[in-house]
Amino acid sequence: MSTNHSADYDVIAVGAGFAGISLSYHLREAGFNVKIFDRADEVGGTWAWNKYPGAATDSESYYYCLTFSKEVLQEWSWSKRYSGWEETQAYLKFVMDKFSLWPMFQMSTEVESATFDNDTGLWNVQTGDGKTHTAKYFVSAMGMISQPVIPTFSGIDRFAGPIFHSSRWPDGLDVAGKRVGIIGAGATTVQMLPEVAKTASQVTVFQRTPNFVLPAMQKDMTPEWEKEIKDNYDEIIAKARNHMFGMAFEQPPGRNAVDTPPEEVQRIFEEHWKGSFRWVFETFDDLLGSAEANQMASDFITSKIKEKVNDPELVELLTPKGYPLFAKRPPLDHGYYEAYNRDNVKLVDIKDREPIQEITETGIQTTENLYEFDIIVLATGFQAYTGALEAIDIRGADGHTLREKWQDESKSIMGVYASGYPNFFMITGPQAPFANLPTSIEQNVAYITDCITKMETEGYDRFEPSQQAEDEWSEHTAEIHNQTLMAQGDKVNSWMMGANLEKRKPRVLVYFGGAHIYYDKLRESADSGFPELSFSKSAA
Ligand code: NAP
Repeated sequence: MSTNHSADYDVIAVGAGFAGISLSYHLREAGFNVKIFDRADEVGGTWAWNKYPGAATDSESYYYCLTFSKEVLQEWSWSKRYSGWEETQAYLKFVMDKFSLWPMFQMSTEVESATFDNDTGLWNVQTGDGKTHTAKYFVSAMGMISQPVIPTFSGIDRFAGPIFHSSRWPDGLDVAGKRVGIIGAGATTVQMLPEVAKTASQVTVFQRTPNFVLPAMQKDMTPEWEKEIKDNYDEIIAKARNHMFGMAFEQPPGRNAVDTPPEEVQRIFEEHWKGSFRWVFETFDDLLGSAEANQMASDFITSKIKEKVNDPELVELLTPKGYPLFAKRPPLDHGYYEAYNRDNVKLVDIKDREPIQEITETGIQTTENLYEFDIIVLATGFQAYTGALEAIDIRGADGHTLREKWQDESKSIMGVYASGYPNFFMITGPQAPFANLPTSIEQNVAYITDCITKMETEGYDRFEPSQQAEDEWSEHTAEIHNQTLMAQGDKVNSWMMGANLEKRKPRVLVYFGGAHIYYDKLRESADSGFPELSFSKSAA
């Protein structure tokens, strides 16, 4: 089915990661003519950019994958519980090969702007090579966490050695024998530090806020485990689809920590201390809702820091204070705490003891010391949810950009539509849930495919997302957000509230009502004919 013969494509999308790959397959199967642009020179999305040592998934690999093909689920073998970036990228290339998706993809091509043309009813998409491409539908498949935050330290351009954001690790850069400074102590640093420390002569982490770090407990896949997974994939997929964070975890255990005797709480915490976020969801139901229960979980995690880190002063520095577990997204530990027991690893408190003053030609100058380095890594995080969408000039029916629309609040309808932007979809945009991303992506892609199919089979030219539906979704999302402990993220610069961005007000970016409930809402919307949209045909 080709929708509009005056356009170059039916659908143009940006982003060649899980979202773009899944979208290309489903839309092509539905008969549409699709083009995907990505500025990276390789497919993989996050996994084409985040190639720092230790970069790996934090979801377990066997459900951090696309599930539309039973054959691929059986044919592909994961080597570990959490796969590294190379393996995840190789998996995505395998999917591309298997379904011959490559012709739809144009890599090394930056989309600079996308403008809805009210006269033609098409999106004009301008790429970095100066070309303009037209499509009836424009889709963001750019990922929730892709646009970096680059800090504005004075002197940042003066440093003589390599200095780069963690998601721009230079090809082939080897840290062996080098002195490495890492600014930031989030999920990226938690993964990177143990790997870098193995060969660097010296590593210094500059930390502002310590995190609650849960154990990953990485392990190799065994033939028995792989068989068990492959024999039970339908159940695994259903578990992820029906979980509040889109993870293939057991359902909530049906008990609260606050109603459980303290010794029993400790026993259950200990028994489930087996790696992954499972610990939060399979122990008690009230850890993210009750301050008292959250404190018990926080205390348990910090007691584990003491077991792992030898120096009591470092334990103190690494212990999160003054905010609840999950107000910031907890990282998973692959030897992070143990790395601080090494002689070549140092931690500098840049919040209370010695803030960074500037970057010099030779290193990082704090209020107390000059730390000299060969390499500086800016592991300073991302403009989550909105950053990639705002970095491109995406202009809707009234000519305004998404950046202008979202100056004060980043409203959407289910993270998929933005009012004022006809025939435009976002995959996991602002106010979608924070969840195992492939699960959310697949639900979004199925929904978008249904919407485009309806448009084309019923002969519509344009859909308009309703302002009222957007206001209702945003209010609903804010109401739920404010009932959770995650609402305290603004105290600690959480990217889940955009509170890590200078010059922007913290805002509600995440739907915390449960990914499974959100997926139900998408289905309800499709089944009832997309009531959030008004459909029209051009007069001609
Ligand atoms: P992050 O969690 O936002 O951490 C950024 C770090 O940089 C924080 O420690 C922050 O300090 C610090 N920072 C930012 N600006 C600074 C400045 N101007 N001066 C000093 N310190 C500064 O970013 P991330 O570690 O890249 O992780 C972001 C998210 O990406 C994760 O939460 C996760 O969802 C995703 N991620 C996933 C994986 C995975 O699943 N495998 C791996 C890595 C990342 P404050 O905390 O004080 O602001």
